[in-house]
Amino acid sequence: MAVKKNLYTKRESGRAMDEVRPMTAKVGVVPSADGSAIFETGKTKAIAVVRGPRTLHPQHMQNPKNGVLRVNYGMMPFSVEDRIRPGPNRRSEEISKVTEWALSSVVDLSEFPNTVVDVFIQIPQADAGTRVAGINAAAMALAHAGIPMKEMVSAIGVGKIDKSLVVDLDKYEDSLFHDGEGSTDIPMVFTSRTKNLALLQLDGKISIPEFKETIELAKKACEKILVVQMEALKNVNGENGAPKGVPLEGNNG
Ligand code: UDP
Repeated sequence: MAVKKNLYTKRESGRAMDEVRPMTAKVGVVPSADGSAIFETGKTKAIAVVRGPRTLHPQHMQNPKNGVLRVNYGMMPFSVEDRIRPGPNRRSEEISKVTEWALSSVVDLSEFPNTVVDVFIQIPQADAGTRVAGINAAAMALAHAGIPMKEMVSAIGVGKIDKSLVVDLDKYEDSLFHDGEGSTDIPMVFTSRTKNLALLQLDGKISIPEFKETIELAKKACEKILVVQMEALKNVNGENGAPKGVPLEGNNG
């Protein structure tokens, strides 16, 4: 049987297959919050705001051994071309939950029993990769708030478009490309020091060897993202000061 040729040999955006979109990050964007950050990648923007730790009400939800981390993710109504109905939906609840799981693997709230730390993530502009941009912003906002963290996390979307493995899918690649083998989207989150996977989701089809390759691509991209996150935190905390929440040695490889 003749092998079908790859229909996605050049990215629509002109980027190299393993190239991430231009990134910017800034901490302290909401001065009234305990911690805040913005993370942008291409046209995708995520703002994260942290409040807490503060006593959790109602009391029956408190954990006497540990503080509770609570994440709320939402896209703004005009963040995409088709207006999004305000308020929670199945997708936003799923993303809030998986973000909570990813961040919980590094956040240590054992010194704050019966409290809650709230993380609000808002997406003012979306061009795919909003959950990973949200996680990058949230990790920075938590560190900025002085919440104890064992290490940082960095997140990226990788995947397969027809037969090509790609890094940092945009909306065209994520949702609009349907030719050949179509589009497979794999958001991944890596911890900064131990290089553990804190989150992996997979939407589509991929072979095991290709999947292994995407893990390596994601790891490399997360190294680049970590540099941007730490630089932003350093700028706000001063050259010699570790971000309040994260031990510096926890982030240098
Ligand atoms: N999107 C949209 N309308 C929606 C949800 C998503 O236009 O109601 C777009 C948006 O650009 C988003 C992209 O589709 O970033 C991919 O969404 P997905 O659910 O894969 O999550 P994401 O990649 O943003 O984490």
